[in-house]
Amino acid sequence: MCYHLGREAYLRGRTRASVKTAFLYSKDFEKFDYGPSHPLKTFRLKLTFELIRAYGLLSLPDTRFVESEIADEDDLVTFHDREYIEVLKAANRGVSVAGAGYYGLGVGDNPLFKGLLEWSRLVTGASLKAAAMVESGEVDIAFSISGGLHHAMASRASGFCYVNDPVIAIMSLLKKGKRVAYIDIDAHHGDGVQEAFYATDKVLTISLHETGRVLFPGGGFEEELGTGEGKGYSVNVPMPPSSDDELFVYAFDEIVPPLIKKFRPDIVVSQLGVDSFYSDPLTHLSYTNNGFCEIVKKIKVISPGWVALGGGGYDVANVAKAWTLAWAIMNDADIPEEIPGEFLARYPLEGFRSGKIRDERYIVSGREKTMMREEVERVVDFLRERLLLR
Ligand SMILES: [Zn+2]
Repeated sequence: MCYHLGREAYLRGRTRASVKTAFLYSKDFEKFDYGPSHPLKTFRLKLTFELIRAYGLLSLPDTRFVESEIADEDDLVTFHDREYIEVLKAANRGVSVAGAGYYGLGVGDNPLFKGLLEWSRLVTGASLKAAAMVESGEVDIAFSISGGLHHAMASRASGFCYVNDPVIAIMSLLKKGKRVAYIDIDAHHGDGVQEAFYATDKVLTISLHETGRVLFPGGGFEEELGTGEGKGYSVNVPMPPSSDDELFVYAFDEIVPPLIKKFRPDIVVSQLGVDSFYSDPLTHLSYTNNGFCEIVKKIKVISPGWVALGGGGYDVANVAKAWTLAWAIMNDADIPEEIPGEFLARYPLEGFRSGKIRDERYIVSGREKTMMREEVERVVDFLRERLLLR
């Protein structure tokens, strides 16, 4: 490394010219707030943006920084019921509306905060813009870090999600005649996306998540394989609690690349939730950003065009580190292990205490690992047989 060139020049020198990327962001993200006791902190988006910027990863030659656009109502109703959107409009003032509970609103997970529809439109607009840029060939990869709100149903808010931006982004790609595969690695099952495409063979949905036996939303079992024409096009890999990076990578390798090869998508949409890490307060998986990066690299290899979305992540430092690493991978940029000092000085959070961007390796061993491996192998064998991957 040539130290006298400085970080940016160093990164530029290490970046392959062929991959064009876009990073979707809005300063307005931070205007919205789920409330002081809610685990979803919109601040994590600003933190990620700041860390990416501190590493000089927004000024690479083939990278575009793109302001989010606001999705309009016509976009929202490609998936959501009009009646539900009317309720969200009324709830946007942050006060309760008639029948709120029926639509999943105002009950803990999905609080009625001021601007909740504007927030959802901004997030969805970013994911739609990401999809449009990849679809048109303007870029090869677009990363919409605010997106990935995969639990929202057609007429119900669920799991911190009011509007399902992955579904709406996929709908926009289908409208252009694209064949889409969706890969969801969030700790929670991507139930809203699965439900949207459960009966079609036009979209392949694959979700690897902590088993619904112990975690919200309580589904996503291996037997859920789609229905009618969609049979075999919904795939779920439930993982036992405490699963580590080794099991994560094993399950992914056995199922995802062979399915993508068979399905031959034009575009891959991925949900890159990082609530699967061992220090996440809401889940029980034991991944680190090392396993996460391995998977991100693999998704990049199998994606002809790639719309990358964010997702869960309730330890904000985890989120910033993991999505910065993911963005570096998308751009073929090697970044220094040490988090830039000026960033650390501004954000002295517990999760940055090591000063390093990569987590320490964490691998489970002994009897617990043997039992987990047996369970994951059972699920993999079941799926390989049902999906004819042998
Ligand atoms: Zn999640």
